[in-house]
Amino acid sequence: MTTISANLQAVLARIQAAARRYGRDPRDIALLAVSKNWPAGCVREAALAGQRAFGENYVREAVDKIGALADPGLEWHFIGPLQSNKTRLVAANFGWVHSVDRLKVAQRLSEQRPHSLPPLSVCLQVNISGEAAKSGAAPGETRALASHIARLPGLRLRGLMAVPAPADGFDAQCRPFRQLRELYDGLRADGLAPDTLSMGMSHDLEAAIAEGATMVRVGTAIFGERTPL
Ligand SMILES: *Cc1c(COP(=O)(O)O)cnc(C)c1O
Repeated sequence: MTTISANLQAVLARIQAAARRYGRDPRDIALLAVSKNWPAGCVREAALAGQRAFGENYVREAVDKIGALADPGLEWHFIGPLQSNKTRLVAANFGWVHSVDRLKVAQRLSEQRPHSLPPLSVCLQVNISGEAAKSGAAPGETRALASHIARLPGLRLRGLMAVPAPADGFDAQCRPFRQLRELYDGLRADGLAPDTLSMGMSHDLEAAIAEGATMVRVGTAIFGERTPL
């Protein structure tokens, strides 16, 4: 077994164990393997071990990798900050975007989504810890923004995503995830029928699962520590 496939099995075991501990069905929690900064060969290795969904943060790097792999069985999720001058490449190359945080970007993605493809699945990113320098919509504007996005024809609103400020200790990790889950429940109350709560990374996926994550985004625990490209 390669290191990547062993790591992948270990992460899946963590997801299973957390699901069991917090009364969740493990089948309700998808694993997104975050492959930013890792070459196409690493993605191929993970794909051979059965992983289908991959997350990328940098448009150019991702588009090159998607082209190099040319595997229609893989699902590509854009999870990094998205500038409006890069939306066309994202709309054409990805199945999902987790980092939509303003209407202008959502409108461009919707207009630029090729008609030959199904609507682009999107999560609205929320700046749940209220950090000044962080991307994400303010919690208070989430519901209004979500109902706008849900009406755009080229998009399918799937739910919410957040990257909370780093916190030590399980309870401190749970708090922002619980706040995101409450916003998500608000979208349901608004009749939007979201199905994706994208939260939890290598160091805090257990807390995210305890609070209702349906997709965890894991890089380091699968591929190793990243060094800048
Ligand atoms: C890099 C990244 C991840 C993965 O983080 P790890 O700590 O390596 O698991 C998850 N989500 C986003 C938005 C990221 O940028």
